[in-house]
Amino acid sequence: MRIDVVSIFPEYLAPLELSLIGKARQDGLLELNVHDLRTFTTDKHRTVDDTPYGGGAGMVMKPEPWAQALESIAGNAAVGAASQGVPAKKPVLIVPSPAGERFNQALAYELAEEEQLVFACGRYEGIDERVIEWAAEHFAVRPISLGDYVLNGGEVAVLAMVEAIGRLLPGVVGNPESLVEESHSDGLLEYPVYTKPSSWRDREVPAVLLSGNHGKIAQWRRHEQYRRTAERRPDLLAEFDAGGLTRADRAAFGELGYDVVDRQLRRRPDSGDPA
Ligand code: SAM
Repeated sequence: MRIDVVSIFPEYLAPLELSLIGKARQDGLLELNVHDLRTFTTDKHRTVDDTPYGGGAGMVMKPEPWAQALESIAGNAAVGAASQGVPAKKPVLIVPSPAGERFNQALAYELAEEEQLVFACGRYEGIDERVIEWAAEHFAVRPISLGDYVLNGGEVAVLAMVEAIGRLLPGVVGNPESLVEESHSDGLLEYPVYTKPSSWRDREVPAVLLSGNHGKIAQWRRHEQYRRTAERRPDLLAEFDAGGLTRADRAAFGELGYDVVDRQLRRRPDSGDPA
């Protein structure tokens, strides 16, 4: 995969040289280029912002430096595709924005299938909206939000998204099994995890984990997933496909106050607060 990030603070993306993503870059599993938006300005002061039409607080990012930056990246992508004799597919342009669709694990998996992602880091009050419309000529444009809060710029959102997407690329995480059992991979939160020593400050590791009984451990972990998800994120259970649950699983949900109706979990009206 190739990733291009455009920002007025390229140094902000330095953490992407570290850890698993840094290693993936070194190993050639991920090509990541960071571009300074100011190099695409033409005035002495390298201006990237101006006052908003219609008045109001804050500044808005000017369209032309963005067009220059994105055209150069789109042009390189087209040349690259032509040199390999493959038809140019529009790269995905991700515009981090609190007004975008919410980023989640399913979207991370979807984006990990792409050949090229381009991230446009906004600052101030954001990027002139015409850039987003215009960019659709060259890119598949996706405004994406990290969550329902406002950051100062898109860089932190890009760090999070690149890490979430990058770790799904083949070879980046040493043991691909560890991707399967994580929170959100199956619509549930992950079960609690423990390591040595088995007794620590008067707290014991759950005995089942020391039993060596793999069937029981798997069932305990599944039921802990249900309990934790019901406690912390009951909204996820509304989306959960309960069709394949075993009798023991249904009983575990029953204790948490949920019945299975038409493959869906329904919270019993009389069951009070989520367990
Ligand atoms: N005025 C904008 C609004 O209310 O939608 C917020 C602008 S914010 C101060 C500046 C930039 O930070 C945005 O253009 C975007 O790139 C980034 N940003 C802020 N919050 C974000 C979020 N929740 N997810 C992704 N990017 C975000």
